[in-house]
Amino acid sequence: MAKNNSTKLKAIEHEVENLTSSPLYKYRQKNGYHAVFGTGDPEARIMFIGEAPGKQEAVSGKPFVGAAGKFLDKLLESIELDRQKVYITNIVKDRPPENRDPQPEEIKLYSPFLRKQIKIIQPKVIVTLGRFAMDFILAEFKVPEHGGKISDLHGRPLQAETSYGEVIIIPLFHPAVALYRNELKDVLKSDFQTLRAYVEDTKISS
Ligand code: URA
Repeated sequence: MAKNNSTKLKAIEHEVENLTSSPLYKYRQKNGYHAVFGTGDPEARIMFIGEAPGKQEAVSGKPFVGAAGKFLDKLLESIELDRQKVYITNIVKDRPPENRDPQPEEIKLYSPFLRKQIKIIQPKVIVTLGRFAMDFILAEFKVPEHGGKISDLHGRPLQAETSYGEVIIIPLFHPAVALYRNELKDVLKSDFQTLRAYVEDTKISS
């Protein structure tokens, strides 16, 4: 099963690598960057979804390896959640120039890949990092709170139905924001404690 998932994910990763129709593809090629597809357990029960790769991610081809990623690692450690046992990805798989926000058409172009990743992995818990991932996922699963503000919804487990069953969505602030808004560090730490209960529930840390 795991092998099957990983084979299916590889096929989609190749599609992303060859996404010449993306306006970000040229930028990737020009800079010798990589597409950033996702890393972790192809059978993960918990999936983290960020926004788009930054420079270090585009250089390495791996999500959340820069400053925001280091903070994410600390948050994962704080609830004894092994990074290898979760799956981490982004909505947009190529770095937008100058770390600008992803544009609606980029989200539209890349979201079918995220949709396929979710269908293959079938996570029980989806943790969204930042408002772009939150907005997309809440709309995708028709969660009534869709359209709400992250300042109201962060740390609130929201239930949704998917084609493969029930999922819990936990919107969180983006770890990068906490790096320049110090007060959000504690908010994220405390929201991770909410996540801990679900980690234990899905028995992924055992
Ligand atoms: N920010 C994101 O949203 N994703 C990454 O992979 C890195 C930084």
